[in-house]
Amino acid sequence: MSPVSRGRKKAKSSRIIRRVPDPATAVPDVCDCPACRAGSDPEALAADLAVTGADLLAVEDPLTVEMLGSSLVASVDVGGEGLVEALSEGLIPAVAATSTPESLAVLLAIAAVENRATAGAEAQRLREAGVPDPGWVEALSDPVKPEILRLYREPTGESAVLLGTFARAGQSHGFVIGISHLDCDAATDILMFPGESLEQAEQLVVEDGQRSGITFTAEDMEPADFRWQADRALTARAVHDWEDSVPDTGDGFDENGQPDYYTSAVLLRARLRVLPEPTRPPAPHGSSAGPA
Ligand SMILES: [Zn+2]
Ligand SMILES: [Zn+2]
Repeated sequence: MSPVSRGRKKAKSSRIIRRVPDPATAVPDVCDCPACRAGSDPEALAADLAVTGADLLAVEDPLTVEMLGSSLVASVDVGGEGLVEALSEGLIPAVAATSTPESLAVLLAIAAVENRATAGAEAQRLREAGVPDPGWVEALSDPVKPEILRLYREPTGESAVLLGTFARAGQSHGFVIGISHLDCDAATDILMFPGESLEQAEQLVVEDGQRSGITFTAEDMEPADFRWQADRALTARAVHDWEDSVPDTGDGFDENGQPDYYTSAVLLRARLRVLPEPTRPPAPHGSSAGPA
């Protein structure tokens, strides 16, 4: 199957030494986002953002825009609650400091996947200053609706798979989320696929299970329930990723130009926010409550 790809490769970003911030409060001095990578060199930042901005201005597909926006959000090395603050105090003002079509594109791409930070407000400011919108603005504003929301269970209860597809303007795309109930119900991986590859994605889930001697049974889920389960998996994985060190998020895409786990997780969280809020509270970490 051909997974969703942003279609072109970007050079791996240069690695820098990073300190481990307190995920709850800290805005890191140096993280892997373009603003921190450039340090106090405004020319380096402008050059870096011009590349991402030019990438964004060259694409038409709103999903590609969201993947690039997600990779930027994922590049901010702050876990949990500190993310929105780190974005709003670090990357976003750095981007908004230049009034160019590239900056506006970057701000809109970030706002598309993380609307709690100030990217939307800054984008509006640039627009009012006369910066023209990128061509994909309208396509991006079409509402996203869930289609298939499914849970694959297996008899031992050790693992599960969530499969969710979402549509915008007749175009759909999906996520396959592997979950380990033996590991705090954490997400093991996320695969994004285009709507036309749904059958192959379903087959992949079944065949992956068979290889491990597992027979999955599929059931449709209530949207709020899907959100609860996926949120539990993403949150548990994030806790684990941040336990030892700052996860190495690279440039957000693998060598084939497909979104890596961290980029996919940011985009999946944006999708979960279109689903109704669960009525039950978030699961406490490590309860290993299983698939229910
Ligand atoms: Zn940063
Ligand atoms: Zn755990």
